[in-house]
Amino acid sequence: MRPANELRPVEIQLGYLPNHPANVLYKSGQTIVLCAASVEPSVPPWLEGKGKGWVTAEYNMLPGSTVPRKRRERSKLDGRTTEIQRLIGRSLRAVVDLRALGERSIVVDCDVLQADGGTRTAAITGGFIALAKAIQNELPGITIGEGPLRDSIAAVSVGVIEDEVKLDLDYDLDFAADVDMNVVMTGSGRFVEIQGTGEEATFDDSQLTEMIAMARRGIEQLTQRQREVLQSA
Ligand code: UDP
Repeated sequence: MRPANELRPVEIQLGYLPNHPANVLYKSGQTIVLCAASVEPSVPPWLEGKGKGWVTAEYNMLPGSTVPRKRRERSKLDGRTTEIQRLIGRSLRAVVDLRALGERSIVVDCDVLQADGGTRTAAITGGFIALAKAIQNELPGITIGEGPLRDSIAAVSVGVIEDEVKLDLDYDLDFAADVDMNVVMTGSGRFVEIQGTGEEATFDDSQLTEMIAMARRGIEQLTQRQREVLQSA
């Protein structure tokens, strides 16, 4: 069994889709997400003429990503999908200087090919790599901390299962968890968002502190992986 403070194995393939200029296949154990960041040379109407760019995200789970099959959403997004794609967009914008990006929009599409818990955190961590690659394609030579790329962003889940704090919950752990938390943090170690819920249970200050410390260590490792992948691109 995986130790409580260990991440699932992470595999990252930048440029998985040969015809798309900024995409990544991100695997965290059995959770697999394809993230593609596409650039458009315009901004939404409400941002026109303001000298700023825009970054947004879309998230979806493919029907075959779960058993039983998840119904394909054709017209209206369900509440969970809407909530998750807004979280991904907010998280990515937190590390982009939109003024330095200039009047261009970047849409980061995160499609879950296989879901085994932690799809939103995988979408954020993988989505950042695709976004950074798209920005580097537009502005060659830019590295993290320069120009529009103010910092990196990554996310991980953490939870409490039978009074033990555990990092990076897969579906079985998520299902068994009394407390479930998603932590989004920049590469420089600052929080962007924390979503924590005690389901049929409550949690105290010391568990909260332990969860956050464990998530921080996990995110440090993910940050390192993101930088390695982008450096070798
Ligand atoms: N899940 C599913 N069908 C759904 C929603 C979720 O099978 O419609 C599973 C899937 O494995 C997912 C997990 O439940 O990863 C946890 O879902 P949650 O809503 O907590 O989001 P996630 O942990 O994926 O960010």
